[in-house]
Amino acid sequence: MYNLKVTIIGAGIGGLTTGIALKNIGYDVEIYERTRELRPAGAGISLWSNGIKVLNRLGLGEKVAAIGGEMNRMEYRSHTDEQLSAIDLRPLVDRVGERPYPVARTDLQQMLRDAFGKDKLHLGCKCVGVEQDETSATAIFEDGDRVKSDLIISADGIHSTIREYVTGEVTPRFADYVNWNGLVAASDDLCEADNWVIYVGEGKRASMMPVGDNRFYFFFGCPMKQGTVVEPEDRQKELKDIFAGWPQAVRNLIDRLNPLETNRLEIADLDPLDTLVKGRVALLGDAGHATTPTLGQGGCQAIEDAEILSRYLVSTNISVSDALKRYEQARKDRVSQLVLKARQRTDTIYGKDENVTAAWYKQLEQESESNVIDALAKVILGGPLQ
Ligand code: FAD
Repeated sequence: MYNLKVTIIGAGIGGLTTGIALKNIGYDVEIYERTRELRPAGAGISLWSNGIKVLNRLGLGEKVAAIGGEMNRMEYRSHTDEQLSAIDLRPLVDRVGERPYPVARTDLQQMLRDAFGKDKLHLGCKCVGVEQDETSATAIFEDGDRVKSDLIISADGIHSTIREYVTGEVTPRFADYVNWNGLVAASDDLCEADNWVIYVGEGKRASMMPVGDNRFYFFFGCPMKQGTVVEPEDRQKELKDIFAGWPQAVRNLIDRLNPLETNRLEIADLDPLDTLVKGRVALLGDAGHATTPTLGQGGCQAIEDAEILSRYLVSTNISVSDALKRYEQARKDRVSQLVLKARQRTDTIYGKDENVTAAWYKQLEQESESNVIDALAKVILGGPLQ
């Protein structure tokens, strides 16, 4: 394709990664972000090997390894502190050819932002609409500015402004639970340094995994009605009540976390969309396929989107809209399947049907290590880089 001018709306994981991929090809890319300061919504994220492989190809391998935690094992424990399963993740790494890296989100965003560069990242620019004609697409901003380019990538998250233009109105679906997350200094009385531990019971969970700089990323989840609000200063007390009587390590974590830096999120996802593209405008990342985080694949799928989109934009000379249609075809099934799989897993974890959740606790005790590795490998190897 000729030297394209590309407008990306949103500087999250999806927008920044796509910006880097398209800039590497030599295209003229500008990213517009509505916030004045980039602040990720959440403390940590587990980047599985499918996402890491794309970052490696973009030249970020060493940098992501430097900010990532060394996660060699994964352990399920019950809320009464019995070990349900312990999986060595190293055979998975051998099988798929890359490690997973849990990272702090601020480190990830900083890394991506540095790689993209500051000069073409415009903060404080809220996109309010898009238009297109046969030869161009125009992004319209709150202050009345209009930016014309060859294509627009809508990487503006689950509450995307542009999505309605592409697909018609779509409302995010509340997943019936609340997630709390944050970072805490690593310590043996919380979790072993290279372990990802997940405590489950009563349709709830509490978890810790290592990220760079000797810290753990932690999260909690509990079923809840929509619309509950708890101010930051009350979050420690809230967690103490919800996880009263849980194992000592979980209670230590709650004692040690900083409630003012603990995020509290109502989790939502999107029903799979039939359309990700309209002419010269493409949805990418959560804007097109927001998922519950129970497979740890939402961000990785945004990264995969970036890889596939850039491949089509460089490998076809027919037209921009043709390249985008091919991107849509290549991505639709993969992301839809993962959204639905994560949704089902969420319902199981969070006790939508008590019997199913109880059966899952039993299954954790009986499931072989090789089955777990197979399931993880299947998701990872379904990505664009083998
Ligand atoms: P976002 O990160 O939402 O970025 C969108 C950006 O667009 C934001 O910066 C926003 O300010 C900007 N924006 C919005 N509207 C406008 C506008 N009108 N104009 C300009 N800018 C705009 N994924 C994983 O891979 N692994 C995990 O372990 C994992 N854990 C998760 C845990 C939790 C609790 C949650 C909620 C999600 C998790 N995810 C995980 C999913 C992952 O966070 C998302 O899939 C990912 O952040 C999506 O990136 P994005 O760039 O598409 O959207």
